[in-house]
Parts: sequence; C-alpha cells; structure tokens
Amino acid sequence: MSDPFAFDLAATDGAARAGTWSTPHGAVPTPAFMPVGTAGSVKGVMPEQLAAIGSTQILANTYHLALRPGADVVAELGGLHRMMAWDGPILTDSGGFQVFSLAALATMTEEGVRFTSHIDGAKMDLTPEDSVDVQAQLGADVMMCLDECPPLPCEPERMQAAVDRTTRWAQRCRDQWDARDRRTAGGDPQALFGIVQGGVDPAMRERSARGLLPLEFPGYAIGGLSVGEAPSEMYRTLEATTPFLPVEKPRYLMGVGTPTDLLHAVMRGVDLFDCVMPTRNGRNGSVFTSAGTLKIKNAAHARDDSPIDLSCDCPACKRGGPGSFSRGTLRHLFLAGEMLAPILLSLHNLRFYHRLLAELRAAIVRGEARAFVAAELAKWGGGANVAAVNPPPGDPTAVPIRP
Ligand SMILES: [Zn+2]
Repeated sequence: MSDPFAFDLAATDGAARAGTWSTPHGAVPTPAFMPVGTAGSVKGVMPEQLAAIGSTQILANTYHLALRPGADVVAELGGLHRMMAWDGPILTDSGGFQVFSLAALATMTEEGVRFTSHIDGAKMDLTPEDSVDVQAQLGADVMMCLDECPPLPCEPERMQAAVDRTTRWAQRCRDQWDARDRRTAGGDPQALFGIVQGGVDPAMRERSARGLLPLEFPGYAIGGLSVGEAPSEMYRTLEATTPFLPVEKPRYLMGVGTPTDLLHAVMRGVDLFDCVMPTRNGRNGSVFTSAGTLKIKNAAHARDDSPIDLSCDCPACKRGGPGSFSRGTLRHLFLAGEMLAPILLSLHNLRFYHRLLAELRAAIVRGEARAFVAAELAKWGGGANVAAVNPPPGDPTAVPIRP
C-alpha cells in the first residue's frame, strides 16, 4: 500500500526544498503556510475564501478544542473536517505549547500535564496517551506528539531534562498511535509527527533529533522557537537542526513567523509553517505588502484611493481593479468597527504569505532561491516585513540582510 503521507522532493536549491506532501485530504506543494484555526475556525474567514486565496491546509489547537466544545463533541459532530467544512488537510498540535504559553495554568510531571481551564477553572489532565486519543477524536490528518517546551533562556540541565522527557513522551505517543492502528476515531489514516526541542543550543537540538529518529515518525516538527530569542538565533538553530532530520520526510516549523522568518527558514530546509501572525495582524489593522508593512488605521491613508498592494490579487486588493477596496475605505471600515475590515485584511495577509511561499517554491525549482530571497528582503527595506536580523558571523548559507 502506498504511503498516504508520502513526501516527494521536486527540487532542492542549497538547503531549500520544493516538495509535494501527500495527505488523505489532498496533496500540498511545499514550502507551504497553514492558517491557524484555533477553535475550529480561521477567524472571520470562510473555508471557500481560504481555498480561493491559496490556503491548502489548516492548523487547529487541541488544547482549545478539548476544553471547548470537547473532543468527544467534535467527534460526534463528525470530526474536524466536517465541523470546519474544510476538505483539505488539517493538523492539530498536541497541547504542549499551551504549557509554555499558559504556564501559570499548567503543572507538569513525568506522567503528563495538568491544566486549569482558562474558561471555567476545571482541571484537565493531558498525558502523552491522552493527547493522542484526543487528537484521534478530533480527527485531523496529522497530530503532534506531546512535548515539553521550556521557556528561554533556559539552564542547560533544565533544557536537557526537557529534551529527554520530550523523547520519552514521543515514544509513549508513538505506542498509543500504534495501538490505535494509526487511525482517527473515524477510521481514517492519521500521521503523528515528532517534535524536536532543545532551545537555541545546537547540541541539544541534535540530541533531541537523534532521540526521535529511531521512532520513524512520518514527519518532524521543530518546536520551541519564536519564544523570545533573537531571529538570528532562531535561524542559527534551524541550521543546526534540519541536517539531522530525514530528507524524505516533511519538516514543520511550529508557530513561526514573520515573512522574513519564513524565507530564512525555507533557506535552511523547512517545508511547513503555521502562525497566527497574518490573521492576528490583519484583525489589528496591520498588513504586509510587497513594499513592507503598513498600518491601515494611520491618518495618512484617510483619503488614499489606492489598494493595500497593487500587485496583490486578494479579495481586498484585486490588483486595484474593479471591486477592489481602497486604503481609505479600509481605514474607515476599521475606525467604524465594521467587521468586514478585519476579514479583508486577514485574507490579504494570508494571500501575501501564500504568494510569497509559492513564488519562493518556483525560485527553488529554478535554482534561484537565494536571489529571490535577497530581492524580497531588499524590497521590504530595513524595517517593514524584515525583522531585525543579522546573519550569524561566518555563516556560509546566510542570506545577506540590509542593516
Ligand atoms: Zn491584497
């Protein structure tokens, strides 16, 4: 039987990869970005709109869905695909990251994690086995191992303990996944990804990757980044991590990041991304453009008849053609509290991310990835979409960044 989660490399350019990742709900050209549908919905955006702007897959959050409405309710409602009215691939995280982001509400032991619900204060235990069972009930195409993501900076002993616990939990997750015949509660094939931890210490990243490789997961996620470290540290860490990951499996950088981060990560061998940034920023009136970021609420846009970005084909911009929304109109809608404004800006930002990675993929296939990335970063200027980054000293693969 063919592998329902096969990853085929179409081209490489340096460490950058253009691939096609198969799932039971369709194939994804990579590198690819997935919008975040935390509670089972990408906020304010219809599934057919997502498909129209190039979204191929969605991430949903296990922690949030397990608390509300409950994984059993999601299963009764037909699983996440039915519930979200989304026929494409869906991934769920394990809930492990919420231990980090909601640390005051969580305690951790070797057995697992105990959360206090941020909704009603109820206690919820999440062992590695529970995490797999809950994610099987949710029914996504891909689930994640429960991991420990310590906050940075982190003492070396503490980091090593987290890495080793993550490896032990990965084994328990794998055993439970096997016990479930690697299927969702609805009976569909379901993949399990291991998560590489280790902070920004290359030796710890190697230790984590080497611990997970014997478990032969269908894909590998890189967790514990974009948690407060400098972008250059993140890029250096990726460089120290991806060489240890199997070439023939997808690599997923969790929760990252800015457009700049995506370009740098792809150049270091990452295939898949998720982040709330495009939708969250859109809801707050901040948009990415081919010339950098802009805040639509600024007074400078009040009488501006031009679209957000003339080169953008999203439902808001339409390349400035008939039916497009001007910056002035969008600013007004924001200030008037009209719900259409955050919806349009979410769509625009997601389209920006999807186009960026589609164009980068084409550049990888042409063997021009480095030139493409350098040109994009130069277009955005020193601020704009570019985080404050500097290539690590002596880094041979670093893309030049304008100061
Ligand atoms: Zn647009």
